[in-house]
Amino acid sequence: MKHFDLGIVGAGASGLAAAIAASEKYPGYKIALFDRLPRVGKKILATGNGRCNLTNINALSHGYRNKSFASAALNKYPPESVMDFFKRIGLYTFIDGEGRVYPRSNSANSVLDSLRYAAEKDNISVFAETRVSDIIPGENSFTVNGEYICDKIILAGGGKSSPSQGSDGSALSLARSLGHRVTQTVPALVPLNSRPDKVKSLKGIRASGVALTLEGEREDHASFGEILFTDTGVSGIAAMELAAAAERELRNAFDPVLHIDFLPEENNIKAIISDILYSRKNQPLENLLSGLLPKQLGIQILKNAGVFDPSGVISPDYFSDNMIDIIVGGIKDFKLEILGTRGFANSQVTSGGVDINEIDPETLESLIVPGLYFSGEIIDVDGGCGGFNLQWAFASGLLAGELNDKNK
Ligand SMILES: Cc1cc2nc3c(=O)[nH]c(=O)nc-3n(C[C@H](O)[C@H](O)[C@H](O)COP(=O)(O)OP(=O)(O)OC[C@H]3O[C@@H](n4cnc5c(N)ncnc54)[C@H](O)[C@@H]3O)c2cc1C
Repeated sequence: MKHFDLGIVGAGASGLAAAIAASEKYPGYKIALFDRLPRVGKKILATGNGRCNLTNINALSHGYRNKSFASAALNKYPPESVMDFFKRIGLYTFIDGEGRVYPRSNSANSVLDSLRYAAEKDNISVFAETRVSDIIPGENSFTVNGEYICDKIILAGGGKSSPSQGSDGSALSLARSLGHRVTQTVPALVPLNSRPDKVKSLKGIRASGVALTLEGEREDHASFGEILFTDTGVSGIAAMELAAAAERELRNAFDPVLHIDFLPEENNIKAIISDILYSRKNQPLENLLSGLLPKQLGIQILKNAGVFDPSGVISPDYFSDNMIDIIVGGIKDFKLEILGTRGFANSQVTSGGVDINEIDPETLESLIVPGLYFSGEIIDVDGGCGGFNLQWAFASGLLAGELNDKNK
């Protein structure tokens, strides 16, 4: 059997950061880094549309799930120290107008390369195409796949999202087999599905500055930003940020409804439409809302209100007060029944994971199995779009890699 001081399951963002941190702190340690895929860090290449939004300078004030647990790692390794970590390994970054941090090269390849090269050390052995399928705890060590003895283990195998890039849920099974509870997992940051006949005609329409409210059984969930209609539902960051909540409602046997306010900053649309009826008098009816909303969206709202006639013209006399109220309703409260999401296969993140109550937030060591640590998305912590999930993956990886032990 081969012996290692530390075995890390998963060479994604978090596992690579943990390996680099551990090798720096314990130069004498032999570290094994296992990944089931032929290449390490494959998912990093897909992040940020190939640009890798690696952190966000507003991460400390972000509303992460299980924020109070996550705070210890995030405070120890805030976005600035994640950026410093990358600078130390030769990667330079820039911050955009919304606090999102990208590599200066604007290429996710350089983020992965910097991690890969930093992990190419004599004391780190990478075992690619090595799926860890069992970990048996012994007196002072763990037997991995019946082949490797590791004194300590970091489980950094991610959740269930985007399995073609690695995290297929098998690391969650390993956590369970080691006695840990895993909370309900749902796909997060993924497009929403609605009835195709309700959205097909809107396919391709993008609307920004939109306020969304997902009406749940006990509480409503809100988001704001851009949406994009697809042939099966709604995509775009603002919609994707409601996906985990929608999944949880559906799993509780409640059918959530999405309410879209296309013009949240306007409270007197009725007066605006009354003005347009005069300012655009005698123009084609399809122009009624085109000064306020994307044209196709405006036409669809008129169709839904039952007032659209392709050869009609704008005429103040034609529109009754009631008709204008119905149009206003279509703009301020466009309703879509949400039937589901596009699932783990298309989701960026998994919400849910190893129960935080069984992990020490200061060290990320298991409170059940000494010598076992967790980092990254496998833990029940997730955030919104904008670099928040990689920030968690890197911060928790750097902390777990310290292998701090409260009993020492
Ligand atoms: C398309 C896409 C775009 C994204 N864009 C962004 C972005 O721009 N910014 C952002 O902050 N976040 C983004 N995310 C989310 C972010 O990528 C993840 O939250 C982050 O990668 C999680 O890191 P991790 O190391 O915990 O898990 P992963 O990156 O999932 O890595 C886990 C690794 O463990 C390996 N593994 C799993 N099980 C086993 C096993 N049993 N044995 C051996 N190896 C195993 C996997 O092969 C994988 O390499 C995006 C995600 C996707 C899918």
